[in-house]
Amino acid sequence: MLVNLKTPIEKLFQIGPAYVQRLHKVGIKTAEDLLFYFPFRYDDFSSVKKISDAEVGEIVSIAGKIIDIRNIRTRKKRMNLTEALIEDDSGMIKAIWFNQPFLTRNLRINANVSLSGKVVYAQEGLQLSNPAYELIGEKQIIHTGRFVPVYHETEGLSSKWLRAYLKPLLKLANDVEEYLPYDIIKRQKFFGISEAIRQIHFPGDKNKAETARRRFAFDELFLIQIYMIMQKRKWQKNNAAKIKFDQKLEIEIKKFVESLPFKLTNAQKISSWSIIKDLEKSQPMNRLLEGDVGSGKTLVAFISALTVVKSGYQVALMSPTEILARQHFFEAVERFGKITIALLTGSESKIYEDNKIKKINKNKLLEKIKNGEINFLIGTHSLIQEKVVFKNLALSIVDEQHRFGIDQRAKINSNVLDIKDGLKTVPHLLSMTATPIPRTLALTIYGDLDLSILDEMPKGRQKIITKLVAPANRELAYQFIHDQIKKGRQVFVICPLIDESDILGVKSATEEYEKLRDKIYPNLNIGLLHGKMKPKEKEEIMQKFSDQKINILVSTSVIEVGIDIQNATVMVIEGADRFGLAQLHQFRGRVGRGEHQSFCFLFTDSTSVKTNKRLKALIKSSNGFELAEQDLKIRGPGELVGVRQSGLPDLAMASLTDFELIKNARHEAEEIIKEVGAYRDTPLLKKYPKLAEKLKIFTKKIHFE
Ligand code: ADP
Ligand code: MG
Repeated sequence: MLVNLKTPIEKLFQIGPAYVQRLHKVGIKTAEDLLFYFPFRYDDFSSVKKISDAEVGEIVSIAGKIIDIRNIRTRKKRMNLTEALIEDDSGMIKAIWFNQPFLTRNLRINANVSLSGKVVYAQEGLQLSNPAYELIGEKQIIHTGRFVPVYHETEGLSSKWLRAYLKPLLKLANDVEEYLPYDIIKRQKFFGISEAIRQIHFPGDKNKAETARRRFAFDELFLIQIYMIMQKRKWQKNNAAKIKFDQKLEIEIKKFVESLPFKLTNAQKISSWSIIKDLEKSQPMNRLLEGDVGSGKTLVAFISALTVVKSGYQVALMSPTEILARQHFFEAVERFGKITIALLTGSESKIYEDNKIKKINKNKLLEKIKNGEINFLIGTHSLIQEKVVFKNLALSIVDEQHRFGIDQRAKINSNVLDIKDGLKTVPHLLSMTATPIPRTLALTIYGDLDLSILDEMPKGRQKIITKLVAPANRELAYQFIHDQIKKGRQVFVICPLIDESDILGVKSATEEYEKLRDKIYPNLNIGLLHGKMKPKEKEEIMQKFSDQKINILVSTSVIEVGIDIQNATVMVIEGADRFGLAQLHQFRGRVGRGEHQSFCFLFTDSTSVKTNKRLKALIKSSNGFELAEQDLKIRGPGELVGVRQSGLPDLAMASLTDFELIKNARHEAEEIIKEVGAYRDTPLLKKYPKLAEKLKIFTKKIHFE
């Protein structure tokens, strides 16, 4: 049968039904899919040597004849050992394998073999320990004696099996059509697609493997960037209210800023100014305000809100929890004088007008929103769930945006659409997040947004005293915590997830809670918060903590406690070594918000020097971005909060530390959009149909659409 790229795998050389099923499970349906199933690393067996040149400690490949081979059962450890003696024209070496007695069926005396593995020193001289092996025959060697691909062995797909099937299939690589524009391949010095496929599976050497990998990582990043830029353009085709920042408005805003009990930080000023500039355009803004916990994002949101309200339009602010919404509402009431503000959550509706806060019937509130009497509406998911209709909403603000799903975020964009004269008029959009992601990374996962970063803390913030607590000092720490509570302070305790089955942290938090309640602090009030609780229960506990009816709040890491509790002065983190630095830093940011000196205790049972060093970085630095950069270097991008949830594919994910590559991908994507920009409807499709097709498949696969 003639095999081509589209041949279904069940029709390929005799792949049995079991393997067909396994391949289907990882999404491989055709020969082409198999070609695009890449190894994630290589074993470097390329150091081919004569037996007599092999040295202890190195990984070598040798080729020779089997002189002797036999299975031995060790008496002591009851293990199966296979011992073989191999000879080439320079000498002899022994090879041993553990618990693979079936080897003797394949490897027989007088057979020519290639072996790759580590040379160790044994009693009788040098020896190859557990080497990879294959018979030397007519076929090229693929498992030894070269750079050998290693694949993710999920679903029972072994690397050995994949190598054997892929090698003959590689001749189809010539038929794979190039989708990258030729200019890009030339500029970036990439392999063309066919060569890249051959080299990524069976590279000639290390450099070639790297070059191939770089190209495919680029492909992913490039496609992501094109997608992001297109999204951005699509959004910008909409209309938005033009908020003219005239002198009158300027005076209003100045007055507001002067009324504050503190000075704005420089970062707050710069961000506010970027937003004001955005609002002046008839294109809708789509900006992300990124800043550490406590960096004062709310105030930037308020300045933006005031700018819009004073121009006669409405503003909405959506928070992930009722407590946060309430907190924002009361802060808004305190900061703004004469505007009408309302709170809408699942459980309450309030209005602030004529200097008074009043309860209001929900339907009545909806009516007031509709006829424009409410200037600034603050709430929870209710804003998108209830039938909220605005009179003239010009700015939507999403707080803690990472807490909302993609569809929820889309809804706040679309729910409030207003179509006039065939043009969509949408509100300007401001999202906020406390997830500190380095700028280059943000370019990838938030590539469709403009970015403002609050990388500066308000002046006069107390430094939080951070300590690494060794197991021996646990009692002392407990005593210290007790003293703090006696002084009237409150404490957070964060627990890591115990095991994989404990997805919502029920087990970990419950165990810690019971320990503290029953054994350590039987006369204190301890509260518990975990992912299995209903939103209402969580809200109740948070409220109790906020009302100081709870001394110690035990919570899982799954729960982010985004509220401002000034009286909380101690943050205890159990199993601190299990968290990324940026995440620990975010936990720490929950304390140190009031007048009292605050503390962060990192408990760890790990004695690893590396872990200790990593945790000590937290003691030194109080800058979330700095810590995120360190995380990125030490633990890789997958461990950064927010990155894993972004749904990035493997290669792109692995390349997130390669800033050069990200920048190149961004640049090339911008260029290509610029180039095809002249076409109206399906610009990319007309000029680069293969690329457009690839983009479509890609975005579907990674669920961007
Ligand atoms: P986050 O960025 O985590 O949302 P918030 O906006 O809640 O931070 O601000 C944290 C606290 O800092 C609030 O009590 C706020 O009033 C205060 N704050 C904001 N900006 C400043 C500033 N420039 N100087 C002093 N305090 C500020
Ligand atoms: Mg906030």
